[in-house]
Amino acid sequence: MAENRMLSGKTALVTGSTSGIGLGIAIKLAAQGANIVLNGFGDVEGPRALVAAQGVKVAYHGADMSKPAEIEAMMAYAVAEFGCVDIVVNNAGVQHVASVEDFPVEKWDAILAINLSSAFHTGRLALPAMRARNWGRIINLASVHGLVGSAQKSAYVAAKHGLIGLTKVSALETATTGITVNAICPGWVLTPLVQKQVDARAQNDGVDAAEAIRRLLGEKQPSMQFTTPEQLGDLAVFMCSPAGDNVRGVAWNVDGGWTAQ
Ligand code: NAD
Repeated sequence: MAENRMLSGKTALVTGSTSGIGLGIAIKLAAQGANIVLNGFGDVEGPRALVAAQGVKVAYHGADMSKPAEIEAMMAYAVAEFGCVDIVVNNAGVQHVASVEDFPVEKWDAILAINLSSAFHTGRLALPAMRARNWGRIINLASVHGLVGSAQKSAYVAAKHGLIGLTKVSALETATTGITVNAICPGWVLTPLVQKQVDARAQNDGVDAAEAIRRLLGEKQPSMQFTTPEQLGDLAVFMCSPAGDNVRGVAWNVDGGWTAQ
C-alpha cells in the first residue's frame, strides 16, 4: 500500500507528535507513505495506532527535547530504525503565560530549549545525511507569535521569532540543494496547549467555555474559527511535495487573518 505514494520510502521524524498539531502532521505524512518516528510525552499507543493505520512503519523515541544528549540519541535511533531521516518536523513546544518581571527563570530556559534550541539540534544532526542524498525537508512549527507579539508571552514569542530566524538562515545555507527549510505559523488551534488558555480565560472572566473561546478568537483571529491540525498537516505535505522544491525560508501563516490586521 505504501509503495506508490508520494513519500513512500521516506522517513519523517515529528517531535512532540503524541498530541495536537504534531500528531495531525504525522498522520498526514504517513498517509502519503512516509514511515514515522514519533516523539513526545503521555500516551504513545493511541497515536502510534492512528499513524500505523495509514499503512506505514512507526517508531517512537521519548527524548526530552530540552536535552541535547537525548535529542542526539533520538536521531541515532531514527537512523538505526529506518536508515535515514528525510523529513524533520520540529513541532514540540510549550507555553507559559506571565509578565516579564514575574516570569519564572526556569520556565524561560525550558521554553527557549524546547521551542527553539531543539530545532538547532535536530537540524545540525539531520543536515549532513540530507546533503549526502541531496533531498530533505525541515519544517519548523513556529507561530503567529514568530511574527507578532502578545503580552504575557515573552519566552514563547522570543523563541518563535528565533525559530523563524533559524529557518531563514538554514534555508539560505541549503538554497542550492534539494533540502528546503520552512516555518509554519498557525494562529489559534484548539489543542491541549490552547485548551489550557481557554480554561484560564473561562475562569478569569467567569464565563463558560464557548464564551471563552469566542472572546479568545475575537481578540486576535478575524475568521472566528480555529485552524485544525489536519489543515497544518496538509500544508506540511505540500512543503514535502515537488511543488515545494523552491519554497525556501518562508514563515507561512495559517492564522485566520490574525497577522493581516
Ligand atoms: P500540544 O500541547 O497539543 O502538543 C505538544 C507536544 O509536544 C506533545 O506531544 C508533548 O508531549 C510534546 N512535548 C512537550 N514538551 C516536550 C519535551 N520537552 N520533549 C518532547 N516533547 C515534548 O501542543 P500543540 O498546540 O499541538 O503545539 C504544537 C506546536 O505548535 C508547538 O510548537 C506550538 O508552539 C505550536 N503552535 C500551536 C498553536 C496552537 O494554537 N495550538 C499555535 C501556534 C503554534
